[in-house]
Amino acid sequence: MRHLYEPAAYRPEVNSYWQTTASPLRWPELKADRTADTLIIGGGYTGLNCALELAELGHDPQSIVILEARQPGWGASGRNGGFCCIGGSKLPVDKQLARFGEAETVRYFKEQCASIESVRENLTRYGIDADPHSQGETQLAHRESEIAGLEAEKEQMETLFGIGCRLIEKSALAGEGLASPEFHGALNMPLGFALNPMKYLAGLVRAANGAGIAGFGDTPAIAVNRDGGRWRVSTPGGTVSAESLVIATNGYSSEDLPRWLSGRLLPVLSNILLSRPLTAGELAAQGWTSNQMSHDTRNLLHYFRLMPPANGESGPRMLFGMRGGTSADDATMAAMHRRIRADFDRFFPAWRQVETPFFWAGLVCLNRNLVSYTGPIPGMPNAWASLAYHGSGVAMGSHCGRLAGRMIAGDLAPEAIPAIMRRVPGRFPFPAFRKTYLAAAYRWYEWQEH
Ligand SMILES: Cc1cc2nc3c(=O)[nH]c(=O)nc-3n(C[C@H](O)[C@H](O)[C@H](O)COP(=O)(O)OP(=O)(O)OC[C@H]3O[C@@H](n4cnc5c(N)ncnc54)[C@H](O)[C@@H]3O)c2cc1C
Repeated sequence: MRHLYEPAAYRPEVNSYWQTTASPLRWPELKADRTADTLIIGGGYTGLNCALELAELGHDPQSIVILEARQPGWGASGRNGGFCCIGGSKLPVDKQLARFGEAETVRYFKEQCASIESVRENLTRYGIDADPHSQGETQLAHRESEIAGLEAEKEQMETLFGIGCRLIEKSALAGEGLASPEFHGALNMPLGFALNPMKYLAGLVRAANGAGIAGFGDTPAIAVNRDGGRWRVSTPGGTVSAESLVIATNGYSSEDLPRWLSGRLLPVLSNILLSRPLTAGELAAQGWTSNQMSHDTRNLLHYFRLMPPANGESGPRMLFGMRGGTSADDATMAAMHRRIRADFDRFFPAWRQVETPFFWAGLVCLNRNLVSYTGPIPGMPNAWASLAYHGSGVAMGSHCGRLAGRMIAGDLAPEAIPAIMRRVPGRFPFPAFRKTYLAAAYRWYEWQEH
């Protein structure tokens, strides 16, 4: 298996706060050969939802196998910010309109809205309490000149997508519990909610185990071959022979598993800092009391939310996330830790003395099309991929996993999903230099946005 990043990005320890709040059931290692109708590689939201969809469509759960290199939720699904929101793309709406036309752009938007409902349905159907909060999401202008962009976005949301949004003037931010010297106004969009990603993941694993789906942990797929009209996937403890194959490995994909993936994905680091519980006095001193999930208008995005107090805790913690960094080695992560803390202090100066005991990072996944892909893998019969949610895969990963399940079951034609999601991701030019391009893009954004 070849990865784009150095081994530190794939180390077993995650050290996230979420691990202290929920422990997904562990899957046993695969220790013998077996057969399956469908073999899914990757035990995150995509893989689990794909498996659950197949089982719910009547497929024999014992013939649905999931292989997870570590344990379910070790990847991005167990370490993300918990923003269950529209997303899955970095392609601006104007470009979607120009390339795909209005009807497909609107269809794609509706699919993103449906993805939020997919998660809501999962929470209800499987009885998962994942600490939901927030009425939609709030986007905050990091400089005065961004207000015009927020106004244009409001107009577009209303006229193109029929979604009413609310602009908040700078002078009204404190009244909304969003006081910070960093911001100049905001746009409130009534879509999505926030959740504890590990509790959600643990609930999906419980549902999959309960349905009888055969999950195997600490079982990396190390080779994928075609043999006698079936897929033959090797692992250290045994081989699985399967009719259909699903690649659900997103930012933790290998470059060569299958070889088709080579040079097609760009995993990108996202980093999270988490405060200790804040007191009522500290919240009042900053004037940030809203539990809206929020993000700023930068390309090098900051995302943050005050989370409801966990069981037995005295107050809410602030989760503060930030994209950036092109290496996960110790020195670079230590520098990123200092940087994210400096940004936290700038956004919330009254909390300069507040400890932030948790810091962790993980890989999100981009591709050249700037839109996620769910569908067949060209040149590989009965093989499917669903990946590249561009940093917003809580909702889209869950939903697209379901779509992949329906495609495999013959219940949904691949061409029936919005055209924007159907474009097979091409290879990056000179893929060996992907991290170099990324570093250059980051430098440009930093220069532009600070
Ligand atoms: C720090 C961070 C913050 C984020 N915040 C948000 C957010 O707030 N909102 C949002 O919508 N999205 C967020 N995301 C993105 C979101 O978490 C992902 O898009 C989503 O979890 C992808 O789910 P997945 O199942 O496709 O992939 P993953 O959850 O990454 O799962 C892939 C799995 O595949 C396994 N795997 C890889 N190779 C193999 C192999 N050869 N054999 C077996 N198993 C293998 C890995 O071990 C991994 O567990 C964030 C991501 C990160 C890292």
